[in-house]
Amino acid sequence: MNRLRRGEYQAFTGGDAHFLYLVPSAAVVRLDALSQAVLDSLAEGDRSPLELTDTLSPRWSADDVRGSIDELLGMRAIHSVAAPPPKPIAEKPKRRIPLQTLVLNVTSKCNLSCGYCYEYGEDKIVEASTKPRFMNETVAKQSVDFLFTEAGESPSVNLTFFGGETLLNFKMLQTALAYARERAEALGKVVNASLTTNATLLREGIVDWIVENDVGVTVSIDGAREQQDKFRTFANGMGSYDIIVPNIKMLLARHHRRPVGARVTLTGQNLDVTSIYKHLFHELGFWEVGFAPVTTTWQREYAIEDKGFQQMLGGFQALAKDFLDAALAGRRHGFSNVRDTLEEIHKGMSKAYPCGAGLGLMGVATDGDVALCHRFAGSDEHKLGSVSEGVDRAKQDGYLDRHHIAAKTDCATCWARPLCAGGCYHEAHTRYGSTAEPNLHYCEWIRAWTNTCLEVYGTLAERKPEYLAQFD
Ligand code: SF4
Ligand code: SF4
Repeated sequence: MNRLRRGEYQAFTGGDAHFLYLVPSAAVVRLDALSQAVLDSLAEGDRSPLELTDTLSPRWSADDVRGSIDELLGMRAIHSVAAPPPKPIAEKPKRRIPLQTLVLNVTSKCNLSCGYCYEYGEDKIVEASTKPRFMNETVAKQSVDFLFTEAGESPSVNLTFFGGETLLNFKMLQTALAYARERAEALGKVVNASLTTNATLLREGIVDWIVENDVGVTVSIDGAREQQDKFRTFANGMGSYDIIVPNIKMLLARHHRRPVGARVTLTGQNLDVTSIYKHLFHELGFWEVGFAPVTTTWQREYAIEDKGFQQMLGGFQALAKDFLDAALAGRRHGFSNVRDTLEEIHKGMSKAYPCGAGLGLMGVATDGDVALCHRFAGSDEHKLGSVSEGVDRAKQDGYLDRHHIAAKTDCATCWARPLCAGGCYHEAHTRYGSTAEPNLHYCEWIRAWTNTCLEVYGTLAERKPEYLAQFD
């Protein structure tokens, strides 16, 4: 037989056991001592099966070594040097992916003027003056019809309201959701509704509607008063913390039907992940807290630079450890970044595209134009159709061809690509001027963070496998 070589994988440990994350299949496998020894031998260079049996013979029989080699070949942890695995080719999905989530940008207007908002930066992609500031009822109802048509046979759909500040168009939200529920009932389907808000306008009447209609809520908030008021201010510079916290407490006290999440934007000036989490989860009582770095060009003073990415990674890792301790002790932990990645690992997710944008998820602008996602809603360059005329299939196909992971040559040798797939298109567009570029400025960060999540996964698989059963 030919000489053997190590395949594409990331080795990691968890709970004292050794694991591989296999890139071609995105599967996690636990290694026994013999498989580990075979891979260790191959780390020194290519070997033939005979050389491997010789090297390992003092500890293992030739039959056992050959059995282990066969197993490793089968899972593509190793391969024959003469027959390397074929390179993945850019191939869009064979069948059309039904639309699952439609995000309605119900207004581009906001009552806050957050310093980092992509609506205001030079990275802004939509010229607001050319579009209505508010979505009207006709467009909202057409959007609902569009969602059901594009969802095909799916028994349930997700309708998400986004802004600007979503609640500035509350009346329209009520009409749109009532219409969606009516249509769903007629079609025998279910609509999951959710909204994102800055919480400034949450009043009792609005919360009543949220609770009665089972609407999921995500609040954009950056932490305690000092952290929140650094960027999330009104136009006159006044901070928003003191306005939103009583509203949030009222929401959390009354809305028990759906978990309420906090979504934090991290900037170069606000990177203390641990203290932000402590405030939002333990002190305010959010069900979960998710963090995302600000999207901006590197010239902006609030951009996160290399040192900042390191600090953010340290914070994420400390919180991931906290998460692991809580999971092992049977306590709930609200750090959603790690939980979401654990779910993707468990499900063996191997992404051809970084997210559902343009596939199972689309965004609608106030005038009914349909784009890749909410971040591109209203951008003519990223338009895929309209709610009245449907999806332009030629445009969608062209987009799928250009954005496939196999078309991103820089990612071809990266072990994290099944989970990253090049990263957010909006970030890429902001940094590099093109949605098709991979986000190479944060690769190191992504790989280190993914490895941390793999270690958490491995430890749970060893010590508390029942925790992972929730992702089955
Ligand atoms: S963007 Fe970077 S981390 Fe992500 S898949 Fe590409 S090379 Fe890997
Ligand atoms: S492109 Fe970026 S912002 Fe849009 S859905 Fe994908 S990850 Fe989210």
